[in-house]
Amino acid sequence: TRLINQIAAGEVVERPSSVVKELLENSLDAGAGCIQVDVEQGGRRRIRIRDDGCGIPRHELALALSRHATSKIASLEDLERVASLGFRGEALPSIASVSRLTLISAVAGDDSGWRLQGDGSDGFDSPEPAPHPVGTTVDVKDLFFNVPARRKFLRTERTEYGHLEEVVRRIGLSRFDVTLALTHNGKTTLRLPAASSTAERDQRVAQVCGPAFIEQSVHIQQASAGLKLEGWIGLPTFSRSQADLQYFYVNGRMVRDKVVSHAVRQAYQDVLYHGRHPAFVLYLTLDPMLVDVNAHPAKHEVRFRESRMVHDFLFSSLHRALAESGP
Ligand code: ADP
Ligand code: MG
Repeated sequence: TRLINQIAAGEVVERPSSVVKELLENSLDAGAGCIQVDVEQGGRRRIRIRDDGCGIPRHELALALSRHATSKIASLEDLERVASLGFRGEALPSIASVSRLTLISAVAGDDSGWRLQGDGSDGFDSPEPAPHPVGTTVDVKDLFFNVPARRKFLRTERTEYGHLEEVVRRIGLSRFDVTLALTHNGKTTLRLPAASSTAERDQRVAQVCGPAFIEQSVHIQQASAGLKLEGWIGLPTFSRSQADLQYFYVNGRMVRDKVVSHAVRQAYQDVLYHGRHPAFVLYLTLDPMLVDVNAHPAKHEVRFRESRMVHDFLFSSLHRALAESGP
């Protein structure tokens, strides 16, 4: 099974940022309100994620590290509805097979937490008591220590850290209700307190995208025929230092989609600057029946049932908001 897990890991775990993505999604699935991410050396040396979610009961710790032992799907019907992020029961065993992984967790009512340790080989010792508040800590050390071929493909600490921070940003922009903090080599790099008021939300976007983005953008809030668009689109005066400040969420999930980018670009270039690519953070909400987000969990793809309607709604909403702002 170790080999099978390592093969699966090839798909799930490409680099430190993919570990962070999977672990963060697990924390969110567990209902965490506060997540702390600590990484060392771009995540190669260590990735530790602590959450205050529901925790994993002692007798399920080993199960969580076994293949296809997801607790999230009870039936095929569920599979169709999974809005829940991970659902393949593959991430933890895959990560455990290519790193030195320690899982510590406690559930409400436990006197103590429990720790389970792996070392990339088959099997795990039985859990031992370890102090831990309700929630889970996953500590991933020495990623790919036993897979030199993959280790070789890792880039510099800086590059790997960049990817990893981007994953945290994306999630930070998708869940304003969750407190997120990131440290790199002991230094705090992102601190995003839970945000509920408009001012707090602005503050979070400013922290993730830079204060200039909020200052030099148009706020969007449009709704029509069951479609809702909210967020910000940068004015031409806003010049990005970040190469690619384009975040689009459909029902809370980040996507990259041709229909979307086309509509946004058209509206932007129509009103403002031709030949320039807009910076934006936008949230589209629509009836889940009108969109298939299940296409591929890792690829950020969606399929709209009525793509023309979505396109036109995006175009006209943005067009109106931008035109009103007066270039
Ligand atoms: P999946 O998320 O697809 O179910 P994973 O391999 O990512 O599979 O996780 C396996 C199982 O471990 C999850 O179904 C969940 O029951 C448990 N689990 C993992 N991480 C956490 C966490 N942070 N808090 C609570 N439970 C967790
Ligand atoms: Mg998962």
